[in-house]
Amino acid sequence: MDNCIFCRIIRGEVPSKTVFENEHFKVMLDIGPASRGHVLILPKEHYSDLFELPEELAAEVLPLARKIASGVKKAFRPAGVKLVQNNGAMAGQTVMHFHLHIIPCYDGTEVGEWKPGSPSAEELEIIQTAIKEALA
Ligand code: 5GP
Ligand code: ZN
Repeated sequence: MDNCIFCRIIRGEVPSKTVFENEHFKVMLDIGPASRGHVLILPKEHYSDLFELPEELAAEVLPLARKIASGVKKAFRPAGVKLVQNNGAMAGQTVMHFHLHIIPCYDGTEVGEWKPGSPSAEELEIIQTAIKEALA
């Protein structure tokens, strides 16, 4: 992916601040952090989103996120840590190379604020059924 900014970073064409890497993933500081210690986990191969990411790699992401988030917690002692992973422009994805955000939260206002909906019990049941059926 010639023009993918994250591929260019992985190829060393664009600088970044790596905090960890292994065979399959790189973890770097976000250039526009939501808070102090905001990092991104990205695969070294280009996969556009969660649905393209091979299952074997997907299975490595959460253990890695736990490890990195533990490091961030130790480093900055945030009150909380938020994991965010956007898929598709409508979900807020701006870089179309899979990545997971690890965002330390210090006062709860950094990111992810949204107005909670108030679905009825009936609607909740419909949603539950639809998801269960889709997964069956
Ligand atoms: P998304 O909105 O796709 O979930 O998140 C993309 C993230 O990538 C943003 O938080 C943005 O600040 C970060 N980002 C975009 N370009 C660069 C870059 O060149 N270097 C780094 N380190 N982060 C970037
Ligand atoms: Zn890429």
